[in-house]
Amino acid sequence: MKTIQNMKSRSVLILLIGALSFTFAPAQGTMQLDISGWEAGQVYFDEDEWTEVITGDIPLVITVPHGGAKKPEGMADRTCKDDRGRIVRGTDSYTQEVSRFIREVFQEKYNKQPYIIINHVARSKVDQNRDLHYAACGDEKGMQAWHNFHSAADSALAHAVRKFGYAFYIDLHGHGHSNQRLELGYSLTKGDLQKAFKREDLKKYAAKSSMANYIKKHPDADIWELLFGKHAFGTYIYREGIPATPAVQDPHPAEDESFFSGGYNTRRYTSPDYPDVFGLQIEMHYRKARDSRANIRAFAQSLARAYFDFIDKLDL
Ligand SMILES: [Zn+2]
Repeated sequence: MKTIQNMKSRSVLILLIGALSFTFAPAQGTMQLDISGWEAGQVYFDEDEWTEVITGDIPLVITVPHGGAKKPEGMADRTCKDDRGRIVRGTDSYTQEVSRFIREVFQEKYNKQPYIIINHVARSKVDQNRDLHYAACGDEKGMQAWHNFHSAADSALAHAVRKFGYAFYIDLHGHGHSNQRLELGYSLTKGDLQKAFKREDLKKYAAKSSMANYIKKHPDADIWELLFGKHAFGTYIYREGIPATPAVQDPHPAEDESFFSGGYNTRRYTSPDYPDVFGLQIEMHYRKARDSRANIRAFAQSLARAYFDFIDKLDL
């Protein structure tokens, strides 16, 4: 048993994810952990403390892939370029802190806690929002870190689905774009959102979106309402004083604006392989959101209220 300072958790257990990893099927990429003993509020780490899992008791699962700083010995720097010729190494600063404040707020105000999976490894070593090839560029230790993180995400989603019948998934990031607003990534690009807002090809965008699994089970659900309507997640959080797009107040980015539409994690965990999971990527701006403890706490409170407002209007 090890204890981690600054954690309020009742208990801290070490899970030897690495010791199990030889049994995963390569095609599948990851495997599920033994989650039979998981209890809300427990904190688990893999052997090298690359991945941290905080278990929850509501069907909200938050992953934090880009806030890590550890540079493990023997883990190579990433050197493989993506299809745009880049190797993105930037850290999404303070996103780990944001997730811990979110947990605190849920606990204090609602006596509930979300599942949170935090990656502690620097993005220069492993990118936890890429497929395995681009995540680790073939480095063995990097691949192990990737498997540990995604096994944990897989397992948390499975645990939530088993308990609640569904899971709402948030992949939490921070962006550096000049427009200071949340970019809500429903796996729909700026162009997709512009068309969907004009009610063009709504069926196509419903199927492409990270809400597709919800819509599949609720054929009456209206993707336009979910993205731009008065009960959209963006609309609720905008009402909290946090600018966001898409939302009724700001339906889609303008042509010349940068926008993150959702990455590997969002696509993967809301795909047909996870039929009871839906959600989105949240890319946070910096000013008045991540730039002080007070603002992070205020953001966490707004997110919690927006989450319950949004979820309450769904047919779950
Ligand atoms: Zn990121």
